[in-house]
Amino acid sequence: MAASERFDTLILGSGQGGKALAWHMGRSGRRTAVVERRWIGGSCPNINCMPSKNELASAHVAHTARHAAQFGTEIGSVAIDMVTVRQRKRDMVDRQVAAHLRIYKETGVELILGSGHFIAPRTLEVQLNNGGARVLAGDQVFLNVGTRATLPDVPGLRAAEPVTNIEALEFDHVPPHLIVLGGGYVGLELAQAYRRFGSRVTIIQQGPQLLGREDGDVAEEMQRILVAEGIEALVGAQTLRVEGRSGKDVTLTVRTSAGTREIEGTDLLVAVGRTPNTAGIGLDDAGVRLDAGGYIRVNERLETSAPNVWAIGECAGSPQFTHASVDDFQIIRENLGGGSRSTRDRLMPYCLFTDPPLAHVGLSEEDARRQDVGVRVAKLPMSEVLRMQAIGERPGFMKVLVGQSDDRIRGFTMIGPEAGEVMAAVQTAMLAELPYPKLRDAVLAHLTMAEGLAFLLANVPPRE
Ligand SMILES: Cc1cc2nc3c(=O)[nH]c(=O)nc-3n(C[C@H](O)[C@H](O)[C@H](O)COP(=O)(O)OP(=O)(O)OC[C@H]3O[C@@H](n4cnc5c(N)ncnc54)[C@H](O)[C@@H]3O)c2cc1C
Repeated sequence: MAASERFDTLILGSGQGGKALAWHMGRSGRRTAVVERRWIGGSCPNINCMPSKNELASAHVAHTARHAAQFGTEIGSVAIDMVTVRQRKRDMVDRQVAAHLRIYKETGVELILGSGHFIAPRTLEVQLNNGGARVLAGDQVFLNVGTRATLPDVPGLRAAEPVTNIEALEFDHVPPHLIVLGGGYVGLELAQAYRRFGSRVTIIQQGPQLLGREDGDVAEEMQRILVAEGIEALVGAQTLRVEGRSGKDVTLTVRTSAGTREIEGTDLLVAVGRTPNTAGIGLDDAGVRLDAGGYIRVNERLETSAPNVWAIGECAGSPQFTHASVDDFQIIRENLGGGSRSTRDRLMPYCLFTDPPLAHVGLSEEDARRQDVGVRVAKLPMSEVLRMQAIGERPGFMKVLVGQSDDRIRGFTMIGPEAGEVMAAVQTAMLAELPYPKLRDAVLAHLTMAEGLAFLLANVPPRE
């Protein structure tokens, strides 16, 4: 075994919070190493958020071009060149990787490309990508190994070689008929994008609605929007078996309340959830315990069961967003500096980047019911937001939850253009614990989307 090299800070996986922590430690003069097996900068800039939003932007242009005549612009027929779509995405990823490498250099953090596993507490053996191995020991060790797409246990699925989000963002052609297994965030964004590129798309969702964690009215509205674009969505559909090969011909046998049917497609995308990358990396040897789902057990300060070992991001069971992983870093940084920040009660917004997007922060109606929080609910169809008249009649709504016995805003959901930006305004009011009439009566600029907030909040029922 190679002699061990000592670091003040050792990070396994260069995820979103992990790299931020590494750079912070490097700038603070600590000897820091990051071990990364494949993606310089982690999943977000390489295979997840940024590449998907990049290709979604291309799909949006295709959609706008197809509907340009409605706005008075004649552009003739529309053709999709997926090689160019992909190259535009690859160029962005290359720029991101180069930017990351520059920061590693500036901060003096050593980026070690290879696969790491524990051989003793706070000690990693790394199989280097370019051959050989190194043994690294850290005074403080941070795990930020992320998750990967789950392959459910369906007969024939593995043999069908389905694509995940990684390969779906590498297509050099428009799949004639894309079957999307899973009606969650990843599945819906990619389903709409490929529909707009010209694929026939079928979504198969096992649960009773798309977007299982959203309120029923939100899920129904999103389904209506996708179906109106020609996407077929089967909910409450259990996949019994898969035959054939993705990329050629693939057939799924599914059971729905209407009976059993076969769906024949050309390509199969699996997006049914995520599996943590925690198996087979010696976490037992490191004294790091996992929960029943394979996620690393952490307390509210993201400390694991092993002394001086923390976990960050999705592998720690944090909400599956880049900003959650980055917030995990901020919690750890503050606490190492003597603070007492925790993951408890953090307000975690999120966006689904369909068109129109869905944005949410705080409680949903279902959360409020489950947690027995009394709320008043107000809704506003997007058709009543004046800006919608200018940009074209579109679906969607805003929904706000206000405390039953106080005027605090407890939750906000919007399906509509610029939903994420409008949500940020509501989130700010929530963080400031602003009574909702202050926002309702504020002067909001005309003809913004946020102007709709005044109309929405005017619909809040009076206290009982
Ligand atoms: C298609 C898609 C789109 C998404 N879009 C958004 C979005 O728009 N907004 C948003 O907030 N979130 C989005 N997400 C989620 C987001 O990408 C993640 O939540 C985010 O990247 C945080 O990940 P992380 O920090 O936990 O780890 P990651 O960024 O996944 O990093 C983990 C790293 O660890 C490395 N690794 C794992 N095991 C080892 C090992 N043994 N040795 C060495 N290296 C190892 C991996 O190679 C990887 O680079 C999306 C996810 C998907 C799948």
